[in-house]
Amino acid sequence: MEIELLTPSKETTDIILEEGGDDLKSCFQCGLCTGVCPWNRVTTFSLRKLIHKAQLGVVDFEDDEVWRCVACNACVERCPRDVQMPLLMRAIRRVIMEVGAGIVPHSLRISEKNISAVGNPLGEPAEKRMDWAKDLGVKTFTKGTEMLYFPCCYQAYDPPTRKAAIATVNILKKIKADFGIPDNSVVCCGESIRKAGAESLYRKLAETNIKIFNDLGVKKILVTSPHCYHTFKDEYPEFGGNYEVIHLSQYLDQLIRGGKLKFTKPLVKKVTYHDSCCLGRYQRIYDEHRQVLTSIPGIEFEEMRDNREYSLCCGGCAGRLWMETKKGERFSELRLEQVAEVGAEILAVSCPYCMANFNDAVLTTGKSETIEIKDLSELVSEAL
Ligand code: SF4
Ligand code: SF4
Repeated sequence: MEIELLTPSKETTDIILEEGGDDLKSCFQCGLCTGVCPWNRVTTFSLRKLIHKAQLGVVDFEDDEVWRCVACNACVERCPRDVQMPLLMRAIRRVIMEVGAGIVPHSLRISEKNISAVGNPLGEPAEKRMDWAKDLGVKTFTKGTEMLYFPCCYQAYDPPTRKAAIATVNILKKIKADFGIPDNSVVCCGESIRKAGAESLYRKLAETNIKIFNDLGVKKILVTSPHCYHTFKDEYPEFGGNYEVIHLSQYLDQLIRGGKLKFTKPLVKKVTYHDSCCLGRYQRIYDEHRQVLTSIPGIEFEEMRDNREYSLCCGGCAGRLWMETKKGERFSELRLEQVAEVGAEILAVSCPYCMANFNDAVLTTGKSETIEIKDLSELVSEAL
């Protein structure tokens, strides 16, 4: 066995600590996290070793391994010391993105520049952000409107993902909800670029949105992205944004329970559901989707392996959606094997990143004829 000789650098460790890596101090190197990290289903990735390198100050900031973590939180569930790995990885990435050490993957740099220049990672014109809704007869949010519906950047610009925003509006109109959408001045919520380490950009985005929301007197925000949900609810309060935030799955569940949403068309399909990490392990929202799906007449619902807190990440969070992942290393492709195992015709999702990743994966695995990817909102809208 070859022994690697490394010279510890307290200065490097201190920089990681300053960038928010305090959890380094708690890790006692048991290695339990490595066993559950999804990367070890597709390659070899010693998380424990990476933490040890950070403790010693010998992290190689030019190595791809610092960009692997998808912030899925699976390891956090297992760690006996409650080490918050996504925060630790974020600190390491901040040393690269903010302090200037190491190398930022080219595709991530492009998304970061797009967000900075036009407010969305796709690089689409800001003045077209709300074009998706122009023929839907939806009003722009004004003071006094009860609820703001905020679709994420992908749901605003990406045609297959946009279907979720259109279906959501259809549902809201059906129940005559008092809601409005933002105008083109809002920007990306910033959740993923923050996890990728671009803290100063994240703060600018959060401050822009919070100023718009506060000036309009927004109190309640409906979202169809778990990433917007997480950052609006848990991170924006730190910057002066305090709102009641509700994800569509919770909203639909409440409407169905309250008898305010009735289905008239059966959907005779076998459906399974993929728990996004950001709604599942982060927020413990597991039952709502299942209750909504099983109340749609005709749907035969079946769970996959790795469901609820054991869900397999789609591979898209923490900026990984914008980075290249080699064929053979994509979690989304493994997940589709689990969908096929239960014979589901539809994989229901509740997250635009999951939607984008699985839409790619059905094509790369040749499953586009047998498995359809649909947002929960689309299934509900079809059954109304
Ligand atoms: S499970 Fe927690 S304590 Fe154990 S090696 Fe991983 S981070 Fe460290
Ligand atoms: S959060 Fe998920 S991807 Fe990141 S290190 Fe932990 S298990 Fe691996």
